[in-house]
Amino acid sequence: MPDRPLAPQRPRGTQDILPREQPLWRRMTDAADTIASLYGYRPVETPILEETSLFTRTAGESSDIVTKEMYTFTDRGNRSLTLRPEGTAPVVRAYFDGHLDQEPQPVRLYYQGPFFRYDRPQAGRYRELHQFGIEAIGDAHPTIDQEVVEVGWRWFERLGIRGVSLQLNSIGDAVCRPRYRDALREYFRPYLERLTPEDRGRFERNPLRLLDSKDPDSVELLADAPKTLDYLCEACAAAFAEVEAGLRQAGIAFTINPRLVRGLDYYTRTTFEYWHESLKGAQNSLGGGGRYDGLAEDLGYRSTPGIGFAIGLERSAMILAGLESPAPAGPAVYAVGVDGADLAVLHRLVSDLRREGIEVVSDAVPGKLDARLRKADRRNARLALIVGPDELARGQVVLRDLRQKTQSAVSLDQLARAVERGLRG
Ligand code: AMP
Repeated sequence: MPDRPLAPQRPRGTQDILPREQPLWRRMTDAADTIASLYGYRPVETPILEETSLFTRTAGESSDIVTKEMYTFTDRGNRSLTLRPEGTAPVVRAYFDGHLDQEPQPVRLYYQGPFFRYDRPQAGRYRELHQFGIEAIGDAHPTIDQEVVEVGWRWFERLGIRGVSLQLNSIGDAVCRPRYRDALREYFRPYLERLTPEDRGRFERNPLRLLDSKDPDSVELLADAPKTLDYLCEACAAAFAEVEAGLRQAGIAFTINPRLVRGLDYYTRTTFEYWHESLKGAQNSLGGGGRYDGLAEDLGYRSTPGIGFAIGLERSAMILAGLESPAPAGPAVYAVGVDGADLAVLHRLVSDLRREGIEVVSDAVPGKLDARLRKADRRNARLALIVGPDELARGQVVLRDLRQKTQSAVSLDQLARAVERGLRG
């Protein structure tokens, strides 16, 4: 046997979203469109590629995304480009590029699409992932924080995803965080020997990141570590109290999680995550977000507050797939041309039905009628349109109800009406 060349492989950490999975994905994106617009968020799309500096300027030296996770390359014009690892910095860039800062504030935006992170793939962690995210830019008031948290919550509700646990914290701002950072360093200093090299690096560069360490020793030490909430300045404490009160009023339960910090340095005040009981270990977060009042300025724009979240669609899909879902819908009509029939008539009938807005799969390939009707069944079609030479001679076709296993002859000019009746029945 001649050696066949190896077929190209799907890149590691990427997935196909096959037709059988599409209905579930469509449910997620439809729910995002619905919920976002209910709260006045408008869609925005930004390029998959951005200048690398958009992410390196904001993320800070110590963030994981910058240190190891970016898909960065040099293009033919010698520019450094990066496949977007997250949505917030691009949306903020678009907000200024598109002069949305001139519109009434806050500007409410949402997006859905692919993101790329060069990480070790495992269950629930991919190199290409999809997110639904929203951003409310231009207003620092805590009612906006509450609204953003609520939008994500309602999205899970709408999809019937139960068991989501909202984790909430505040990491303060430029006024109070330095004091907290010092306190955290002082707490860890006597234990430096016990820390892993990675955590020692965090101790030096960004001690807040120690709070999301996975190292068992650090985790143990964290039980008694100082908490951000105890170090908030008056303004941050008042803002947090308002967020809590707003969520209570909205009937949204939450858990204060003093260890919740965001990986990126520009975050301030409110941080939150949506966890799910069924997702185990480090991958238990369905999504998260926070206030990023320092981001715009870090990017070189006028200082502008903002808050948003990003929810991972792959992990949400894993949960949805475990819930009961209806059988996949097939086409309304499966049209079969019996051997010897005038196929031009079949094509015309099929076109007319589609023009009426009826979904039709057309099977004009010669072959046994029985076998093709079985195909129609396996595709979950509702009706089979059978176009045979004998019926055509009488100006008729056969319409078969594939669920009730009944059929009748229909004259050509009555077909659309008969199909509509059949679909209702
Ligand atoms: P982040 O943008 O890191 O805050 O992540 C928000 C959400 O996106 C997470 O809670 C996950 O649901 C999802 N997510 C992040 N990274 C990945 C990944 N590598 N693979 C799959 N989903 C991811």
